[in-house]
Amino acid sequence: MKSHKQIKDWGLGLTTPLIIAGPCSAETPEQIEQICKEMKEENMVPQLFRAGIWKPRTRPGSFEGIGEEGLKWMEIVRHNLNIPITVEVGNAAHAELALKHNVDVIWVGARTTVNPFAVQEIAEALRGSDVPVMVKNPMNPDLDLWVGALERMHAVGLDKLAAIHRGFSDAYDKRFRNKPNWSMPIHLKRVWKGMEVINDPSHIAGRRDGILEISQRAMNFGLDGLMIETHHNPDKAWSDAKQQVTPKALKEILTAIDFKEPLEAMAPDEKLQDLRRAVDHLDDQLLDILQERFAVIDQIGAHKREHHLTVFQSDRWKDVMESRTKKGVDKHLSEKFMKELLYCIHEESVKRQEKQLREAEALKK
Ligand code: PEP
Ligand code: MN
Repeated sequence: MKSHKQIKDWGLGLTTPLIIAGPCSAETPEQIEQICKEMKEENMVPQLFRAGIWKPRTRPGSFEGIGEEGLKWMEIVRHNLNIPITVEVGNAAHAELALKHNVDVIWVGARTTVNPFAVQEIAEALRGSDVPVMVKNPMNPDLDLWVGALERMHAVGLDKLAAIHRGFSDAYDKRFRNKPNWSMPIHLKRVWKGMEVINDPSHIAGRRDGILEISQRAMNFGLDGLMIETHHNPDKAWSDAKQQVTPKALKEILTAIDFKEPLEAMAPDEKLQDLRRAVDHLDDQLLDILQERFAVIDQIGAHKREHHLTVFQSDRWKDVMESRTKKGVDKHLSEKFMKELLYCIHEESVKRQEKQLREAEALKK
C-alpha cells in the first residue's frame, strides 16, 4: 500500500489512506497486549489504534465498556506500538477523561451524533483543547445532522476534524448491518470541501467476510481511510464478535485492496485531460438542450394559461415518465437514474409554469 499525501496529519504523522485498527472494546490488559503483539509480529501496525472504553449498547445487560481504567491500557499501547490512540466519547465526562489521559484523537459514535445536546456538551468539554475529533455518521441517513455535529466541534475552535462513514440503520434492507448509502459520504465531501471521510467497513458489513468488499468500494469512491475492528480472538470478543478480524486477517485484507491514486498525487495526465475536455463539451450541449426545452415549456405554460388549464396534467406526466424511462433503459441508463432525472426536470417545469401563472395573475390585479 502506498501512502500518498500528508495533508492533515494533525501533528501525528498521519497519511492517507489512514488505517485505524484495534478492538471494538478494550476488555483486559492482556487482550490489548496480545493484539499489539500480533500486530507487531504481522508487521501490521496501524497508523492509529482504536478501542471502545465506553460502549453504547443497543440493549442493556451486555458489556458496557471497561471505563477509565482502559485509558491507562491505551496509554501503554501508544508507548508499545509508538502510534497515536483514539477512543469514543459519548458525553462531557468521557471527553474530560479522554483529555486527562492525553488521548490523541477522539471520536464521536453514531448513537451520539444523532443527539445535538450530547454533541454540544462534548464540544464544550473539548473547548480550548486542540484535540482532533472524528465524527461518525448518525444512525439515520441525515446529512445535516452529520454536518451539524462537525459544525458544533468547529464552532468551539476545534479544526482538526474528520468524518467516519459507518453506514445507516435500515429496518428493511438486511444485507448490511448498516446500509452504506455511498452518496452520503460523497455528498459530505462536496458540501465541506477538504473534509476527510474514513470508512468503517466493520460496522457496515457486520460480518468479517464482508469487510474486503466494502473497503474496496470505499477506496474506489475516494474515501480517505479505513477503520477496521481488530482482535486477537474475534470469536471471543466481548462486543461485535462477528465482525472483528485478527491482525493477520487485517493484513490480508489490506494487501488485497487495490488502493487508488488520488489525482493530486499524479503527474499531469494528458489522456484524462482530453476526456475531461470532452465531458465539458458534452455538458455545454446538455445545458443548451435544457435551455431550449425550458423555452418550449414556457410556451406550453402560456398556452395553458390562455386556455385556463391546470399546470400539472397527470396523464401526460405518466406518459412522459414511462416512455422516456424505457428509452433510457434501452440506452443502458439505469431505471432509477432515469426516474430521478425525469422527476427533477418535470418538477422544475411545473414550478416554472406555476410561477408564470402567478405572475400573470398579479399583473391582472
Ligand atoms: C464502535 O466503533 O465500536 C461503535 C460503537 O461504532 P458506531 O458508533 O459506529 O456504532
Ligand atoms: Mn464495534
